[in-house]
Amino acid sequence: MKGFRKELWFNIPTRRAFINITSDVQKCIDESDISEGLVLVNAMHITASVFINDDESGLHHDYDVWLEKLAPHEPVSQYRHNVGEDNADAHMKRQIMGREVVAAITEGKLDFGTWERIFYGEFDGRRKKRVLVKIIGE
Ligand code: ZN
Repeated sequence: MKGFRKELWFNIPTRRAFINITSDVQKCIDESDISEGLVLVNAMHITASVFINDDESGLHHDYDVWLEKLAPHEPVSQYRHNVGEDNADAHMKRQIMGREVVAAITEGKLDFGTWERIFYGEFDGRRKKRVLVKIIGE
């Protein structure tokens, strides 16, 4: 069995964003030279997510509206966590959208359904953050 590890770095200029990282993950698979196995992709921060869904801007807008209803950023004083910081909502948004995904690799490609894509979800941006890609297989 072979293993491969790489970090993907992001510095999102806005507080919140969804970034399609499918091609970045596929590049890691290409680099790993692993054709049959599993890839784990996880946010290495507790205010960001990695998830799989549709690359459709309307849906991403709907996610943003839905997450703001569940955990509004403002007023920041409504959260006990926000003593000396203002990102309690980002921790909650990340909890709902998830930490990581695991995907199958078959014949060197992400073995995905037609509309499945991998996204980095940022909820407290404007600083450098990273995603871990770990691949095992042969
Ligand atoms: Zn915090």
